[in-house]
Amino acid sequence: MSNNPFKNAVEQLEGVAKLIKLDKIYLEVLLCPERMVEVNFPVKMDNGRMKIFQGFRMQYNSVRGPYKGGIRFHPEVSEDEVKALSFWMAMKCAVVNIPLGGGKGGVVVDPKKLSKNELKRLSQGYVKAIFDVIGPDKDIPAPDVYTNAQVMDWMVLEYKKLKIKNQNYRSKSKNKINDKDWLPTFTGKPVGKGGSKGREKATALGGYFVLNESLKKNKINKKITVAVQGVGNVGCNIANILSNDKRFVVVAVSDSRSGVFRKEGINLEDVMKQKKEVGTVSGLAGTKKITNSELLELDVDILVPAAIENQITKDNARKIKANIILELANGPTTPEADKILFRKKKIVIPDILANAGGVTVSYFEWLQNIDNKYWSEEKVNKKLEVIMKKAFKDVWNSSKKHKVDLRMGADVLAVERIVKEI
Ligand code: NAD
Repeated sequence: MSNNPFKNAVEQLEGVAKLIKLDKIYLEVLLCPERMVEVNFPVKMDNGRMKIFQGFRMQYNSVRGPYKGGIRFHPEVSEDEVKALSFWMAMKCAVVNIPLGGGKGGVVVDPKKLSKNELKRLSQGYVKAIFDVIGPDKDIPAPDVYTNAQVMDWMVLEYKKLKIKNQNYRSKSKNKINDKDWLPTFTGKPVGKGGSKGREKATALGGYFVLNESLKKNKINKKITVAVQGVGNVGCNIANILSNDKRFVVVAVSDSRSGVFRKEGINLEDVMKQKKEVGTVSGLAGTKKITNSELLELDVDILVPAAIENQITKDNARKIKANIILELANGPTTPEADKILFRKKKIVIPDILANAGGVTVSYFEWLQNIDNKYWSEEKVNKKLEVIMKKAFKDVWNSSKKHKVDLRMGADVLAVERIVKEI
């Protein structure tokens, strides 16, 4: 990827437009976000002083439904990054065919430098700043990098407070507000506070469902070896799910500091214990230390990038031995690397399909909040399976029809579905 992720998104769209001979006006529509909101808001710091923070909420496309996408707290958040991420959200929702559009938000901040109270006030300040443009039928944010269920809880309660204040200002009917008017404004909330069961595992489980579909197409019947880069929320869950399926053996995992390898398989319980006690997988008993680059190039059947973007590049793509790459991270493969992998006949299950389980269960959470009826985890997982299997089939058929790889197949499918609604 270039330094400007939106440039990559534009390139991607132009590629699709060329392939399907898309009318120029549709391409023009898709190349611009519907609304870009930039906010600057004050936050009271623990030392009693105010500090101004810059934030964004990008509302890229809503032709298929309300904008949907996470909020990122990161020092490198930029307008172009949020713009690209909001575009990919629109594409992702279209691939899994849920009635939502694409949005994304971010605040330029290093959350590691804030106290818990400052983080809470930052979350509340951001909601105050974007209050007018979000809502259950307008734009539904969720967690992203360095935001979590706790942050969503702070945000949704702030939204409720502002909604009540607004209502009291307009009428005399004090404090009359239905849960469905505020609770579905954010997803990824804690279970018991409006969150959906199964949300935490959803991204990994969705990835597992599409991986199974791809294995059926590719007839691998032996014991399948797997390497997982990044055992955070998504990586840990996928490694766990695969370790509990006797067809797979997870031979390597990593975090930002280091990786570990064991030919006979790694015990995930040991990994979690070690992460909790030591904070890294490095030094896990009975394993060999490897670097993240070595992990990517291991002789395994499946490689799961589940960390950050730009991990498979033109410099290492030729050395990737895995035949299947399941992109649970967003943007782990650069466009140049993609071309190399395609030439080497590798199967890349693209991020907008592979990790769409997360937004799908966020959609379920939104539905549960609106209906005020909560589903069992079994029901959530079953419904997720149906959607992911159908999405895989649609992407597969699209790639066969246009004689392209799965990524282009997914992109074409998404663009066609969005354009149909314009
Ligand atoms: P996380 O912060 O819980 O985990 C990230 C992991 O990556 C950590 O183990 C971290 O140590 C590791 N890591 C960071 N930098 C690394 C590096 N340079 N090399 C190797 N490992 C590194 O985040 P997460 O929620 O698990 O998200 C992981 C990826 O999945 C991200 O790309 C995210 O955008 C994507 N994603 C997440 C969800 C979700 O539901 N959480 C949904 C869709 C996509």
